Amino acid sequence: MPEPLILVTNDDGFYAAGIYALQQALADIGETVVVAPEAEKSAVGHAITISNPIRISELERENGFSGYAVAGTPADCVKLGIKVIVDRTPDLVVSGINRGSNVGMSVLYSGTVSAATEAVILGVPAIAISLDAWVRPDYSYAAKVARQFVRRALEKGIARGVALNINVPKTPNGEAAGFRLTRQGTSNYEERFDQRIDPRQNVYYWMDGELVSNESDPSVDDVALREGYVSVTPLHYNLTSEESFAELNSWEDFQDDAP
Ligand code: MN
Repeated sequence: MPEPLILVTNDDGFYAAGIYALQQALADIGETVVVAPEAEKSAVGHAITISNPIRISELERENGFSGYAVAGTPADCVKLGIKVIVDRTPDLVVSGINRGSNVGMSVLYSGTVSAATEAVILGVPAIAISLDAWVRPDYSYAAKVARQFVRRALEKGIARGVALNINVPKTPNGEAAGFRLTRQGTSNYEERFDQRIDPRQNVYYWMDGELVSNESDPSVDDVALREGYVSVTPLHYNLTSEESFAELNSWEDFQDDAP
């Protein structure tokens, strides 16, 4: 058995602290190949580059962290990583460790999560991992969590079509109360646009916001985080509402309604 091949990516960029902590934590589990955006691409969602060339640079940081910096999005990185850069199909794609949580509606905007779903679309199991901290994030505990889930995923596999979205809480002692299986909630940012004036007197805007949650169900992602648990949500990318499908299907004469 060859050692597992793990493709490591993120949306905070090749030089982020989180991806370094992640690669270092996985280095002895398998062969790691880093393919990450050359600059930060947070909140680009599942965007891909189709109108511009995508350039790749082979780069090295310290302690065996080496790989490819891509002038593109996280989804571009995963596509190029799997189809061009590595010469066998990776056993797993791991995306993160993101600076900031990816729960509720953020999941839709997240480049970190989209990198994982892109892998799943291409048939490779994937995990996204984020740390609920912005200021002086310490990735050491989240890296241990990543390590544990990667081991388990390599051993047991992940259901086809599913990416695991893992969020690690920020707690006073740096450790979580445990793991909790969760559902994607509806928490969202209450956004505001800071209006500013540039040196040439042009008005511009800078978006900022605060995560607001109306949830209290402990099985919802952001509630688990708030209660100090590592939130683990199985995500699928098929957006069909099965519930609504059944309901619409019961409309009388639905099939004959076409004008
Ligand atoms: Mn990010």
